[in-house]
Amino acid sequence: MPYRAPVAEFRFLFDHVVGFAQLAETETFADATTDVVDAILTEAGRMCEDKLAPLQRPGDLNPARLENGVVRTSPGFADGYAAIAEGGWISTSAPVEYGGMGLPLTLTTAVNEMMGSACLALQLNPLMSQGQIEALEAHASDELKALYLPKLISGEWCGTMNLTEPQAGSDVGALRSKAEPNGDGTYAISGQKIYISWGDNDFTGNVCHLVLARLPDGVPGTKGISLFLVPKYIPDAEGNPGKANDLRVVSLEHKMGLHGSPTCVMEYSGATGWLVGPEHGGMAAMFTMMNNARLGVGVQGLSVAEAATQKALEYALERTQGRSPIQNGTGTIADHADVRRMLATMKAETFAARAIALSNAIAIDMANATGEADWKTRAAFLTPITKAYGTDTGVTVAELGVQVHGGMGYIEETGAAQYYRDVRVTAIYEGTNGIQAMDLVGRKMMDGGECAYRLLDEIQSCAEESRGVMADLAQEVWDAAENLRETTEWLAGQEMSERFAVAVPFLKAWARVLGAHYLLRAAFAEDGAGDHSPLAAFHIRRLLPEHKGLCAHVRQGSTGLYDVTTEALAV
Ligand SMILES: Cc1cc2nc3c(=O)[nH]c(=O)nc-3n(C[C@H](O)[C@H](O)[C@H](O)COP(=O)(O)OP(=O)(O)OC[C@H]3O[C@@H](n4cnc5c(N)ncnc54)[C@H](O)[C@@H]3O)c2cc1C
Repeated sequence: MPYRAPVAEFRFLFDHVVGFAQLAETETFADATTDVVDAILTEAGRMCEDKLAPLQRPGDLNPARLENGVVRTSPGFADGYAAIAEGGWISTSAPVEYGGMGLPLTLTTAVNEMMGSACLALQLNPLMSQGQIEALEAHASDELKALYLPKLISGEWCGTMNLTEPQAGSDVGALRSKAEPNGDGTYAISGQKIYISWGDNDFTGNVCHLVLARLPDGVPGTKGISLFLVPKYIPDAEGNPGKANDLRVVSLEHKMGLHGSPTCVMEYSGATGWLVGPEHGGMAAMFTMMNNARLGVGVQGLSVAEAATQKALEYALERTQGRSPIQNGTGTIADHADVRRMLATMKAETFAARAIALSNAIAIDMANATGEADWKTRAAFLTPITKAYGTDTGVTVAELGVQVHGGMGYIEETGAAQYYRDVRVTAIYEGTNGIQAMDLVGRKMMDGGECAYRLLDEIQSCAEESRGVMADLAQEVWDAAENLRETTEWLAGQEMSERFAVAVPFLKAWARVLGAHYLLRAAFAEDGAGDHSPLAAFHIRRLLPEHKGLCAHVRQGSTGLYDVTTEALAV
């Protein structure tokens, strides 16, 4: 059974869990009617099933390669990209004035998930363009917007992001790439960037690189960094790709997975670039792209979780071993308690990651549509959770998928191992998950935890509402939210060094409570008697209790952490 787009599940989440209807009530998103949403989900889902899913394995078996300085992409990827571009799936949320559809990011998030489930390596390409479109729209000059946005939105050209250098990974401020003013309004960009996803391809007319570099008077650290748009081909007077710019792909990385995505070492040798945003304001401008990409990468994780769950279930429903321990079972391994535990965990984690990501997207859309500060802070608070939990879920669910397959999971033909290899990087790139957790306990709690407490109030009032239908489950969620509130209060009173020491368990505790909350809402919407209700009970009784251990871990702060000295580690 090949990948099936979970269109009905998106519809259910939109209608009953994340509150999509409030978007259509705003002036900005008045066009996002039920009919439009249905048409988009159905059409995009069909394209993912028919055009992208068949590329998943060929991309793994035939990695992108560098031939005489030119990147040759995996078989079928050019056609797959054309299908994405022609369908308008790069630009569902892009501004209408430049050719986009102007629809909510929430809808794009669902489409991105389906594309990622079908073929993650190819989906990374439009994801980069989407972030670049948003960054240019927010920070570029009108001339740059007029020239680049229509072509990026149509997919004729594509975009990349260039931050990383050998000595500047998580520490972006350590970058050494230089920008010298040319005296004509352009800049000469020089330096080496590594790990650049889709740094080149053989199917778009141009590749537009957003590059972070330092001007001669830029101070050390992040405050001295500026952002530049550096195209592979410099557009001529008509806006067509003209002379080749002074940049090249030096080599492609040999990776654990995601083989269809060319990960490039880029050399800029005085390449012509255009400033985006103010001089020395590059990090703020790049953050527009990175925030978009953080939600997008979290969704990449969950997209693989969905695909891996579908594959594992298909296998489990065919494979027979021993006798079924339950009456009227299928007679397959899906009846064995441990396999059922794994499958239910995969399903519940995927649901939770999807609900968190979609709620994050709703908050971004509502912030854009209303300008209200509460939506903005909620979006900011949820972003690191979406990124880290979504990608951790991708990794753990794909790993469970291998386990469900037994030995066949370790054999490449089934595709279970590919999901595991492909998704692993999502927990690393776009800010490692450790860095995401530090963002949550640091910048995202600058308000003293106010946004967090508002969210907990909402979780508890939903639990109150659900009591009449599912008293026990509602109580579990209410208590968990209370425990998390006390832990959040404790954390908010700590020095940053204490917070950083326990940032990861804190983020995971939040993901557990949020996941339980959204599953409770799903079950409540079905009066406790629908398909989501047993899944909600599974999550709340078996996964949610982990929050207690996580909160206990958080309360340790940094106590004893550095007592485990590097010398002791080396014994
Ligand atoms: C396949 C792939 C594609 C990529 N695509 C792109 C791309 O398109 N554009 C781009 O610019 N980059 C890209 N990257 C780079 C990616 O974003 C970096 O790898 C990532 O940010 C981590 O940087 P690093 O590899 O230097 O690890 P390091 O920064 O060296 O981190 C190593 C470990 O130390 C931890 N660590 C580092 N600093 C801290 C700190 N202050 N506090 C706590 N822990 C810390 C990290 O969490 C990690 O566990 C890609 C990477 C890969 C592998």
